[in-house]
Amino acid sequence: MQDIKPFQNKVWLATPTMHGDEIKYVQEAYETNWMSTVGENINKVEEQLARYIGVRYAVALASGTAALHIAIKLAGERLYGKPQVSQGALAGHKVFCSDVTFSATVNPVTYEGGEPVFIDTEYDTWNMDPEALEKAFEIYPDVRLIVVAHLYGSPAKILKIKEIAKKHNALIVEDAAESLGASVRQIQTGALGDYGCISFNGNKIITGSSGGMFLTNSEHDANKVRKWSTQARENAPWYQHEEIGYNYRMSNVIAGVVRGQIPYLEDHIEQKKAIYERYKEGFESLPVRMNPYGEGFANPNYWLSCMIINPEAMCKQVRGEQDALYISEPGKSCPTEILETLAKYNAEGRPIWKPMHMQPIFRNHAFIAKDGNGRANTNAYIAGESTDVGVDIFNRGLCLPSDNKMTPAEQDVIIKLIHECFK
Ligand SMILES: *Cc1c(COP(=O)(O)O)cnc(C)c1O
Repeated sequence: MQDIKPFQNKVWLATPTMHGDEIKYVQEAYETNWMSTVGENINKVEEQLARYIGVRYAVALASGTAALHIAIKLAGERLYGKPQVSQGALAGHKVFCSDVTFSATVNPVTYEGGEPVFIDTEYDTWNMDPEALEKAFEIYPDVRLIVVAHLYGSPAKILKIKEIAKKHNALIVEDAAESLGASVRQIQTGALGDYGCISFNGNKIITGSSGGMFLTNSEHDANKVRKWSTQARENAPWYQHEEIGYNYRMSNVIAGVVRGQIPYLEDHIEQKKAIYERYKEGFESLPVRMNPYGEGFANPNYWLSCMIINPEAMCKQVRGEQDALYISEPGKSCPTEILETLAKYNAEGRPIWKPMHMQPIFRNHAFIAKDGNGRANTNAYIAGESTDVGVDIFNRGLCLPSDNKMTPAEQDVIIKLIHECFK
């Protein structure tokens, strides 16, 4: 690798890309003093995204996590009724959740006193495995809520999951934080469950620097979310409260940034797709594959390009709770070696989301794989040893630099570095 020089400017995983309109809308908010959680920018982003995604109502919130919290709370009240003031809406109830995902998918379940039960992942989409979900309903037939994420912009088999949910009278909260613009049979993610959530966090496909959105077809629920997210005031001349509220509304300044980004969503998807295709081509001679995207039923948004190393090409790698070790071997590599190499050359990769059932905080929670079995007990990758799917993808996979400002020349260097890792 002697002839390759570290990047002078860091090549990032995914960073915000501004286009100019954003500052115009922020400026407008400033000059008209609409520097609050009310204003034209908020109205416009709600209107535009509801139309784009194909839902009747969109409510702009402070973050994707806030959207998930409120969606999960709404689902809980719909299923189990209004809780005592000091109790969560899911107190005493299990909830089926995606396992390989960001912790923000499942944390809100616990905010409402619920107990996440983790459903194993499938190789086809790297999302919740419908077969494991069916197994979970055999084991816990009383569960009535499913929280499912569309990882890295690749939709889950949501139609199959909906069928299963219907059979068991369960509701679905769709975590489309990473998948804005991705669709399943022409229906946008976020419009496929009972409630949808998206995020405008700084590294997402479009951003407000922060922010999120709740999606529904129910006017009643949309109004409820507007009320809850602004401290749950009743319609009275004074501050009157019959419900617990939150300060979760999006700011009109943030909404200005989102408003300026919306016209560029399709461009960003095209850029991300080109990055994905370039990696795919560049890796053709390597024993690796790109992250899958449900070919035949789904259109991804290609938010992050990821790769997974074939089992036979994995060198030995062990991960503890805080660090990792590996033994380099000719013809083989592992995520740790690749991530360390990228970092050395000033590029940012990232491990696959560590499965929730492997997280110390959730260690006592149930985990259901499609054979009905529980968790694997090892952090070590030993070729041929079967583990659950989530752990296997975590062990062999990684996220590649996917910034839409990365140049083809920079990406070629990344590809070359990864080829070197296998030499
Ligand atoms: C980013 C993300 C969230 C949280 O969104 P924020 O806007 O950062 O609160 C939730 N779930 C997934 C899968 C995410 O990637």
